[in-house]
Amino acid sequence: MGIHIYVHNPFCVRKCPYCDFYSVTDRSLAEKYYEAANLEARFWAEFGKQYGIKRGDGPDTVYFGGGTPSCVPEKYICGLLETIKDSFAISPDAEITLEVNPASFDAVKGRAYLNSGFNRLSMGIQSLDDDVLRTLGRLHDSKGALKALDSAFEAGFENVSADFITGVPGQSLEGILSGLERVTDMGVKHISTYSLMIEEGTQFYARYKDNIEEIVPPETEREMYHTVRDFLEGKGIIPYEISNSAVPGFESRHNSAYWDGCDYYAIGAGSHGFLNSVRFGHYDDVDSYVSSIGNISTGAALLLGFGSGTSESVEGLLYCEERMSGTDRMREYPFLRLRTSKGIDTDEFKRRFGKDFAEVYKNELKENIGKGYLKVKGQNVTLTEKGLDYANPVMEDFL
Ligand code: SF4
Repeated sequence: MGIHIYVHNPFCVRKCPYCDFYSVTDRSLAEKYYEAANLEARFWAEFGKQYGIKRGDGPDTVYFGGGTPSCVPEKYICGLLETIKDSFAISPDAEITLEVNPASFDAVKGRAYLNSGFNRLSMGIQSLDDDVLRTLGRLHDSKGALKALDSAFEAGFENVSADFITGVPGQSLEGILSGLERVTDMGVKHISTYSLMIEEGTQFYARYKDNIEEIVPPETEREMYHTVRDFLEGKGIIPYEISNSAVPGFESRHNSAYWDGCDYYAIGAGSHGFLNSVRFGHYDDVDSYVSSIGNISTGAALLLGFGSGTSESVEGLLYCEERMSGTDRMREYPFLRLRTSKGIDTDEFKRRFGKDFAEVYKNELKENIGKGYLKVKGQNVTLTEKGLDYANPVMEDFL
């Protein structure tokens, strides 16, 4: 039975011009930040025991994301993982992932990560086209990306994932495919491909806001999306979610836990968790995280609905995003599961919620099947190829 833990490292070497994730470039606070994160890990482990937080199906997973976890000294990352393994009694077959960027990764770090228990790397390659990498403002070039990948395998990692971005101004489909071919030939087992989003508040937004449609025409972006999926499938890297493909057996168990609606702990500024049907977030502020971590025990139980009464925040640290009722969770199930190639399992729906899926969603099913966006195969309902292009509105229909 598994628990799932997400750890957020908010530090990056430099802010990428398209990025709207929470990240900071001042790494002088890293030591204090990781001291606080260790405290938080121990706190949640005790909390979980005290309130009997249930373990979900499947093995344990731990995911260190960012930001750029590889840009801080590895002793902080490995030290925090040790604390997590000790305090949560993580199982030996857990999937333990670390996000790394090519510019701050080498085989020495890789060996340190592997020795401390990480067994999966997710590398932010993004592209192997130097012009595209320059446009994205990344710190690495294609040579650096390939060297970092080599170092990951040299260090002993077998389970390596690579992130790619599509829909970048000036990017060619041929360039994307040749990059994917190169990394999959090197032994990468999992590929995440994300379409570039021009988000408000980013440098890219200021640069492109007046002509977003011209820069990345939606039909070009969709063509890239489908071609990439087909190409990866042809290489034995099978799409199992809207943005993710893997050699069978190498699907991300951690992300799959999110799509299964499992509980998960969250540690670190800017991280989000889900416990006892409450979605909660940590404030996006390293300073307040470090100075407020001592408050965590005062309000976490009330925030997560374990006390008599509730509170909406723990000062400077946590806030409630959503308290979900049984009906909310039932409605979220198809929303999350339609992201996956397995889709909605109507038998599981019945087991979990005691209702017949086809009855609850009679109209939504009829309409989306009629439009050719959904298909039914046995007990499963999934998006069609056409439906992938309308995934968001279709999923929202079920909320
Ligand atoms: S490295 Fe990643 S998290 Fe950091 S600024 Fe760039 S895109 Fe954002």
